[in-house]
Amino acid sequence: MSNKKFETEAIRTQMERSQNLEHSSPIYLTSSFVFEDAEDMRASFAEEKDRNIYSRYSNPNSSEFIDKVCKMEGAENGFAYASGMAAVFSTLAALLDAGDHVISSKSIFGSTHTLFTNFFPKWNISTSYFDAQDLDSIEGLITPNTKIIYAESPTNPGVEVLDLEALGAIAKKHGLIFIVDNCFATPYLQQPIKFGANLVIHSGTKLMDGQGRVLAGITVGSNALMDKVYRFSRITGPALSPFNAWVLSRSLETLAVRVDRHCENALKLATFLEGHDKIDWVKYPFLKSHPQYEIAKKQMKAGGCVVAFGVKGGLDAGRQFFDNIELLSLSANLGDSRSIVTHPASTTHSKLTTEEREAVGITDGMVRISVGLEHIDDIVADIEQALG
Ligand SMILES: *Cc1c(COP(=O)(O)O)cnc(C)c1O
Repeated sequence: MSNKKFETEAIRTQMERSQNLEHSSPIYLTSSFVFEDAEDMRASFAEEKDRNIYSRYSNPNSSEFIDKVCKMEGAENGFAYASGMAAVFSTLAALLDAGDHVISSKSIFGSTHTLFTNFFPKWNISTSYFDAQDLDSIEGLITPNTKIIYAESPTNPGVEVLDLEALGAIAKKHGLIFIVDNCFATPYLQQPIKFGANLVIHSGTKLMDGQGRVLAGITVGSNALMDKVYRFSRITGPALSPFNAWVLSRSLETLAVRVDRHCENALKLATFLEGHDKIDWVKYPFLKSHPQYEIAKKQMKAGGCVVAFGVKGGLDAGRQFFDNIELLSLSANLGDSRSIVTHPASTTHSKLTTEEREAVGITDGMVRISVGLEHIDDIVADIEQALG
């Protein structure tokens, strides 16, 4: 099995068939599992047997989803969560002790940033931030209590690209755990473990599901680290529902073809915007003008579905642009088959000051588009008329 191609593994990695020999995987909507006898029950709880006990610990549908993502990411083991943030929180909380220190990229998902700044200090866990384009500053931030380097690439919503190989080397040199939120790239475009990541986190809500239906998250990595994450997660209860796991496993079967089209559409849109006279700037990892274009080429297969750009005229022009949009959705999600436009400054990052926003790469006029699977001509036409 292990030498099959990505697309084949995504489809053919499945749970064992039941005696009904169903072709597609069944859904196990069950909270618990039964034992044969007293000895079976004892041995199962003693972990002498690898089997399902209770769906907060494991369930055949979650295991199928985990197996697929492990194959895609080149990981040994994983745990599936009810949301991406459940994965982020549980993974970090499982590994960190009071007094520990985290070094994180400044440009990270808003809720992850809030977790670091507003909640972890309650447990005396502190975080220092590095600028995504100044990896040389990281070594100066390391203290004897530093345990984790945390990063996201490409970043949400600024679409910055971080050099994963360089980060992996720093983490290895100092014996730190390197965790990557790989949500924007998906395992199809980028496999951080190849570049030295110890754990990879995904929000399954985005491109993995790809149709805006379910919330989900997953963490994968080495057996040793995942064992710690599993022990914490099975007790604290953030497990993914079997139904959502089943949905995700079906979604992964089409991940490669969907993401190929997302990327093709996104690059065409980014190229169109770059030549438009009402646009200040455009950022997309596979545009030659992207400051980290070479790094993106080195570590990603294509640029992903998100394009960020600035409308000339700042906040007012941005608002006018949103009111003019007809086809695209105004929504906060991304990685959906439907194209979505968002204005980070007035929505996801509205609680930050203008200065704080600029520090994480968000200007007031910035627009983020998650390019969907509609025909590119219709996507471009809607944006063109909204700009006019
Ligand atoms: C959406 C997102 C998350 C959180 O995922 P949820 O499923 O919404 O909890 C984490 N990281 C990134 C990069 C995201 O885009």
